[in-house]
Amino acid sequence: MKHLLCFLSVVFVFFCCAACGEKKDSDALVVGTNAEFPPFEMRGGANGNEIIGFDMDVAREIAAKNGKKLIIEDMKFDALILALNSGKVDMVFAGMTVTPERAKNVDFSIPYYKVTQIVLLKQGDEAKIKNIDDLKGKKIAVALGTTGDSVASTLTPADKIIRFDSVFEAILELKNSKADLVLTDEALGEILHARNPDLVRIDLPFEDEYYAAAVKKGNQSLLDQINASLTSLKNTGEMEILLERYFSE
Ligand code: GLN
Repeated sequence: MKHLLCFLSVVFVFFCCAACGEKKDSDALVVGTNAEFPPFEMRGGANGNEIIGFDMDVAREIAAKNGKKLIIEDMKFDALILALNSGKVDMVFAGMTVTPERAKNVDFSIPYYKVTQIVLLKQGDEAKIKNIDDLKGKKIAVALGTTGDSVASTLTPADKIIRFDSVFEAILELKNSKADLVLTDEALGEILHARNPDLVRIDLPFEDEYYAAAVKKGNQSLLDQINASLTSLKNTGEMEILLERYFSE
């Protein structure tokens, strides 16, 4: 009997520890992002490797309002929705466009930024692209799982879409003449264009896209807090100040 009790208490302690190990730090709010998407999220700051950007400022403010510390989980863009739904992260701030497909799996906050897709190509090639139909059949480099990827999929055969974990790699592919063009979000595209004056930006009538934060379906309390923070940032004009700061970095 004594042995059995001893055994049971060991088992009990073991399970308690295992449960504690799995439990998320309740003082922390975890945001999932992909830090390769300036000016919304990128590496920089004092040591050059901190994750900074507009989305991270908003996420930090939401954590602070809740008396929690913010933990940033940096991962591939393509992995974010899965991380949210498996409970690895509490919310996603990643310049993520609201799409009907994504909205089946997550709840989106109010939109906070509007973009559209833009085309980047090498100088000299601009005459070849006058309208969206001219993209058909072209070799298009995109970031995997992004709206640029979906738009490319409606225009060109699957074997002509070259997918990368980040748009930076897609730009290299273009510069090495292995792709005809890059399709990416306007805000990031503008930065890439400024950094690569040998590229040309082409604006075509693509649909408008709206960025929003995402939470696990049904997490209404966190969604309410995110919406409140975004609304106050917009109303006070702070959002514009922050964005301008990051655009000029
Ligand atoms: N806005 C695009 C999307 O939601 C790209 C976002 C990103 O690469 N971080 O697919």
